[in-house]
Amino acid sequence: MASFALHGIGVSGGIAIGRAQLVSHAMLEVAHYAIPQAKIEAEVARFATAVHEVQLELEGLHSAMTGGDAPAEFGAFLDVHWMILNDPTLSDVPKKIIAEQRCNAEWALTQQMNVLAEQFEQIEDEYLRERKADVVHVVERVLKRLLGRPGAVAPPGAEQHTILVAHDLSPADVIQFKQHRYAGFLTDLGGITSHTAIVARSLAVPAVVAAHNARALIRENELLIIDGTNHVVIVNPDKSVLAEYRLKQGELGLERAKLKRLKTKPATTIDGVEIELFANIELPGDLAQALENGASGIGLFRSEFLFLNRDGLPSEDEQFEAYRAVAEGMHGKPVTIRTFDLGADKQISGLGAVRFCLAEPRLFLTQLRAILRASHYGNVRILIPMLVSAAEISQTLDMIAQAKETLREQGVPFDSGIKVGGMIEIPAAALAISSFLAKLDFLSIGTNDLIQYTLAVDRSDDAVSHLYDPLHPAVLRLLAMSIDAADRAKVSIAVCGEMAGEVALTRLLLGLGLRNLSMHPAHLLSVKQRVLTTEVASAKPVVDRMRRQDDPQKLAALLDKLNA
Ligand code: PEP
Ligand code: MG
Repeated sequence: MASFALHGIGVSGGIAIGRAQLVSHAMLEVAHYAIPQAKIEAEVARFATAVHEVQLELEGLHSAMTGGDAPAEFGAFLDVHWMILNDPTLSDVPKKIIAEQRCNAEWALTQQMNVLAEQFEQIEDEYLRERKADVVHVVERVLKRLLGRPGAVAPPGAEQHTILVAHDLSPADVIQFKQHRYAGFLTDLGGITSHTAIVARSLAVPAVVAAHNARALIRENELLIIDGTNHVVIVNPDKSVLAEYRLKQGELGLERAKLKRLKTKPATTIDGVEIELFANIELPGDLAQALENGASGIGLFRSEFLFLNRDGLPSEDEQFEAYRAVAEGMHGKPVTIRTFDLGADKQISGLGAVRFCLAEPRLFLTQLRAILRASHYGNVRILIPMLVSAAEISQTLDMIAQAKETLREQGVPFDSGIKVGGMIEIPAAALAISSFLAKLDFLSIGTNDLIQYTLAVDRSDDAVSHLYDPLHPAVLRLLAMSIDAADRAKVSIAVCGEMAGEVALTRLLLGLGLRNLSMHPAHLLSVKQRVLTTEVASAKPVVDRMRRQDDPQKLAALLDKLNA
């Protein structure tokens, strides 16, 4: 069997070696046939039964999770799927199509899915646009029921040695990784910020997405190596390649075990510079992983995940409980709660994050009151995303003052000195940083969006992922400018984008002057190890040269020198 390599986007690092199990893509197998008038009612009923069965399936998955140790994001994903399934556009419209077109249920459902998918395509908000994949996953579940092949992924015997290969996988399918311990997975589709990628990272299973024709090229039971760190998949490796990867895999295992010993060690460089390593979390349930990896604070709590986990919006009390759980769980260490960073209504395209919050003051005040109430129970800070102008900062601060006033009137305790920070994630914010420095207590650079908006590269679109470059001179300059300005103003500044968790960039960030990095918990210990072996005084002159360099090749060479 010929050996070949496929390239994709490694969304979760490490090496997996195993046999391919192809996951069927039901959509491709949908037949189209006519239903006689007399049988239309029965066909509609067949469709309704399939929808009902999937409802029960989702409920079963949901209750199997509660009390278990599945990452908290899963609950949110299942709720999103539940909502999609119960929306009349999916549960009712296909019935009308069956009746009107006298066609089979599978065909009616697939047609309606295509209509919905097209509508999602039009949405500007990248996060909501990616939810198209959730619609497809829900439809696939119903199709599988209709086709008489229930169950998304059949659990194989030797699953530790099995790699799932799919056109796309839903987060609900990936849940089974937890119970079944698959070695890894590989999909044709998916962007770096897709739900599947988020889940893969939180499970720490090697995974490559956007491998395009993987599902078509790979055959059942073929031997695969997934190298999530290097974004590559090797199909039918020869003996020497296999031996090499087995060796690497063993080394990685040893390294991980060694890293665990660093958990309680302070992150101090060789020349005595103290670095704070914080964790990014999505839901309170992620706190355990942050603590296990020795996080000395939460640098980014992406609160919008709480808003996803439901039909309507969470009440002030529910939000308060979630924020308080994290504040208490961190025992006085900083907990940075980022306000809602998502346009809740897909109709108001372009109005995301703080723009949306300022346009919806009631919703924003509810969240601010919940955060303020939680501040009484720990060391809570407020972080405002996507700020661009001085006016937005003033309006936001006014809202916070208003929220405080209402709590005071009601005699509800809160930390009156709560720190308010802003994210630097739009180039305008980095270029006009003085109003940020004058009005805010701390700053955090969101490199994911800063890179996307500086280079005009959609961060979730794999077609342009090769242009997504943290080392672009413009990006480095914006970073350097922001850090220098914050230092001069004695305002603390951190990085909380994915760059913070990349070991290859740690010395660069320290050399630029950063002393606080916030990242996914799984990266904390390897970044700490790099901090422990860094001498800031010797990194800085190399980084100074990088700041003046425009030639990408010379920049790459300087980075190598830094990491040597
Ligand atoms: C960022 O943009 O870098 C960031 C940390 O926020 P998010 O990834 O949630 O947009
Ligand atoms: Mg962002």
